[in-house]
Amino acid sequence: MADAARGTVLPVRHQPPLPHERMILSDAPDAEAIEMDVVIVGAGPGGLACAIELSRLIQKDTEAGGDLGETQIAVLDKASALGEHNLSGAVVNPRAFRELFPELQDSDFPFKDRVVKEAVYLLRESGSIKIPTPPPMHNAGNYTASISEICRWLGDKAEALGVNVFPGFPVDSLLVEGQSVRGVRTTPSGQGRDGSGGEPPTDLTARVTVLAEGTRGPLGQAWTQWQGIGSENPQIFALGVKELWETRKPLDRIIHTLGWPLPRDAFGGSFMYPLEPNLVAIGLVVGLDYRQTTLDVHQLLQRLKLHPLFREYLEGGEMVEWGAKTIPEGGWYGLPSRRSGDGLMMVGDTAGFVDVPSLKGIHYAMQSGMFAARAIFEGLKKGDLSGATLSAYDRMVEASYIRDDLYKSRNQRLAFKDGFFVGGFKAGLMTLSGGKLFGGKISMHADAEVPRQVTPETPFVPNGKLTFSKVDAVFKSGNQTRDDIPSHLVVGKDVPREVAELYVHMCPAGVYELDGDKLVVNAPNCIDCKATDAIGPRWTPREGGSGPSYKRM
Ligand SMILES: Cc1cc2nc3c(=O)[nH]c(=O)nc-3n(C[C@H](O)[C@H](O)[C@H](O)COP(=O)(O)OP(=O)(O)OC[C@H]3O[C@@H](n4cnc5c(N)ncnc54)[C@H](O)[C@@H]3O)c2cc1C
Ligand code: SF4
Repeated sequence: MADAARGTVLPVRHQPPLPHERMILSDAPDAEAIEMDVVIVGAGPGGLACAIELSRLIQKDTEAGGDLGETQIAVLDKASALGEHNLSGAVVNPRAFRELFPELQDSDFPFKDRVVKEAVYLLRESGSIKIPTPPPMHNAGNYTASISEICRWLGDKAEALGVNVFPGFPVDSLLVEGQSVRGVRTTPSGQGRDGSGGEPPTDLTARVTVLAEGTRGPLGQAWTQWQGIGSENPQIFALGVKELWETRKPLDRIIHTLGWPLPRDAFGGSFMYPLEPNLVAIGLVVGLDYRQTTLDVHQLLQRLKLHPLFREYLEGGEMVEWGAKTIPEGGWYGLPSRRSGDGLMMVGDTAGFVDVPSLKGIHYAMQSGMFAARAIFEGLKKGDLSGATLSAYDRMVEASYIRDDLYKSRNQRLAFKDGFFVGGFKAGLMTLSGGKLFGGKISMHADAEVPRQVTPETPFVPNGKLTFSKVDAVFKSGNQTRDDIPSHLVVGKDVPREVAELYVHMCPAGVYELDGDKLVVNAPNCIDCKATDAIGPRWTPREGGSGPSYKRM
């Protein structure tokens, strides 16, 4: 290809379109469709908080003599058990938990410890400098937690309130009538590699469908494109690769690092959080607008663990879980101009509610889920679930701390498109001025539109003790996918070798490999992080229960 011959490639040229015809269906629902009032796609903190708040509002209304009657709420998740497809850091801001469960104390929540000590380091390959904690990274008063545990706990609360929680049911398509969403269709299951045989999908009808499918959801992408909903900047993403380690030495503080092993033109950093006396989470997050075809986040995390700062804790310990996931990083300017329409709402990461400087999304996901529930409740009471009624949700978000926080930090991530030092300098001034300095919008390209330099590979041989290959890592994700499942990845035709190398290195799970110049796709390895979906091959939902089975992520 001409661009490769010049030493750069442009991934978007080789990206197939999103398969809209599969995601947005105007078919009538199946005659045996399950009738629901509200269907929530995704049992993460956003979807489950929405279900809990809505069932409580309905319960209170019924107790006060209201006439809503029995309202059926379903939460569908693609994982075979709750929490198995959720991955986070995590240090949690407890404010949304406190609002959702005013009757409980912080000590009742599924948290580990309150953060009392924290440290931020600027890393060099052989050393580190402790720097003052930048204000957005202050975590005193927040709690360490496992998001898998949070989802299991929230799921139990939802079920106790009568919510129908259906794990193992990935949603494949939205069923629409005119401009309205009328329900969902799940994926078929049990098919052979060629798509033959198996069990047919299930249709669920709903008066409102809430998309809480998390980061880079294909349904949210398809719906916003179908509705012609834009955003000021395209949404951009980062990839986080994370490991859980049982250690011999306890960690007494949360750690964040900047700098090495990232190149200076990449945005990102690492974290290490204590979860239990001898269990730590370590992870590396890198913006997908990095410039090199051979940058490999999984491999960079392996190198990071060899640094004395981390090695001290990990050596002699055992890596017990591994996983990866993307994070929407576009902030305020990446939000869709509306997050609701006729019969549909988008909450949490699907909408892009993440504050990047503080690496926080859990409480925004929960809070947006609660706001969506309140708008649905009002719609149910009025008997009107049109886009006009559901737009109350957008207004609640805009009058809340979600808007305030994301607006304040609106350019902090975007400033790093000019590299680490310029970006760090500008971001510091933005923080000091409360977001006023450099306040005009910094324009961004979608990750697929960022040109990549064709770079040589950096050799790395894992030692199997501290550092691991992608094959060994995927094993530690508990991946449960059948080997003979039909491929769920839509890959472009005639992908040039240099672009294929970008996929090979970006995918943390070794799904893409090169056999000579030929791109080989090992789809069953996929752990649904959605990274390559942002720049190339499209990820689509597949048979329920496929993918990772995280236990304590
Ligand atoms: C490495 C990393 C570190 C992070 N650290 C922190 C942190 O320390 N603190 C913090 O607050 N935030 C952190 N975040 C962000 C935070 O995890 C997210 O913002 C939050 O989980 C979003 O919640 P959600 O409910 O919107 O989506 P998710 O938690 O992603 O849940 C989405 C759910 O939808 C399901 N799903 C997806 N598609 C389908 C489908 N088609 N059908 C059925 N089910 C589907 C998934 O299985 C999943 O259970 C981090 C994220 C990453 C990746
Ligand atoms: S193929 Fe799967 S595991 Fe690999 S980057 Fe894409 S979504 Fe992630």
